[in-house]
Amino acid sequence: MNSIASDSYNVYLEELAEAAILQHIQVKKYSKVFVLVDENTKKYCLPKFLEFAGDAIDETLEISSGEENKTIQTCTEVWRELSNLGADRQSLLINLGGGVLTDLGGFVASTFKRGIDFINIPTTLLSMVDASIGGKTGVDFGSLKNQIGVINQPQMVLIFPKLLETLDKRQLTSGFAEMLKHGLIKDQLYWENLRNLTEFANSDCIKKSIAIKNEVVMEDPTEKGIRKILNYGHTLGHAIESYFLKNPEKSTLLHGEAIAVGMILEGYLSHELKGLSMLSLEDIKTTFLNYFKKVDFTEEDIRIIIDLLKHDKKNTHGDVNFVLLQEIGSAVLDVKVPTELFEKAFAYYKQ
Ligand code: NAD
Repeated sequence: MNSIASDSYNVYLEELAEAAILQHIQVKKYSKVFVLVDENTKKYCLPKFLEFAGDAIDETLEISSGEENKTIQTCTEVWRELSNLGADRQSLLINLGGGVLTDLGGFVASTFKRGIDFINIPTTLLSMVDASIGGKTGVDFGSLKNQIGVINQPQMVLIFPKLLETLDKRQLTSGFAEMLKHGLIKDQLYWENLRNLTEFANSDCIKKSIAIKNEVVMEDPTEKGIRKILNYGHTLGHAIESYFLKNPEKSTLLHGEAIAVGMILEGYLSHELKGLSMLSLEDIKTTFLNYFKKVDFTEEDIRIIIDLLKHDKKNTHGDVNFVLLQEIGSAVLDVKVPTELFEKAFAYYKQ
């Protein structure tokens, strides 16, 4: 499986990816081709990309890495650079980076001159199996995650697992959280395979995760229904991530680390409200705590995080909506959760 077809774009893996992008650029006759990098992907990934695509690239644009730079200010800088360098509606932007960069670059491209083409080349495990797939683009606003954005599909997504060789272990583990999520929401057997995995940059598992995400996105590209299952762990996870982002005196928490906590907490809610067995709940908790260090939450932290939940994009008419599990491999949508259960979920996590 080297190409995973979708309605509007393709995900190409390894060998086919090089030929696919070169052919695409040739056929589309772009006026200018831009590559967006950050300081790390410029150092570690750009040279590998230019080895085969150097002749097709006109300009390289650079932003600073980090979630704190996933802002409208950074977009403004990239829009300005694109303008200064003569980008027009026939230009192409190639996003070479992790989820921060593909989210931001996708949004910049989707809005520049009412939308130019973009291609994602994810360079972290998280962006390979999740962020670069499915067309969600955007930036944070204030301390709230992904508040400004659009859903717009890239022309193609290219996956080169060898780019993961330079990614540090903590980042790899963060991406692994999203892979575990794919098992939890869709495929019990996959969950069981992943539970015992020690080498995260595993091509077969990357392909499996992409296939699961792609299948869900193809069925519901604009998140009217089934696509919401991909938000498992993210309702509480995003609130936790936002809270840590806003409080630099707290230790940093990567996206995958925050949603790993979210998946345990929402596992508890699933047990209380949707009949997820205690055995499965304990399995979820043990598995995540095997890979992710327990986060220390004070009572004050918990109070503020619960407050932040009210701002989640997935809320409708003031209700907090959750995706919960009936069993491992099977998720249900739009579950309203009584607020008193949130504190109990944190108490279970802390036990
Ligand atoms: P990231 O983009 O911040 O990258 C992590 C770090 O690794 C950065 O410092 C980056 O410069 C560096 N890096 C990237 N590739 C490297 C490589 N090959 N070698 C060495 N260093 C490298 O983090 P991430 O985990 O990839 O993405 C997190 C973001 O993804 C969050 O903003 C989250 O909201 C977003 N996200 C989006 C979606 C979506 O559907 N759009 C889904 C999940 C997550």
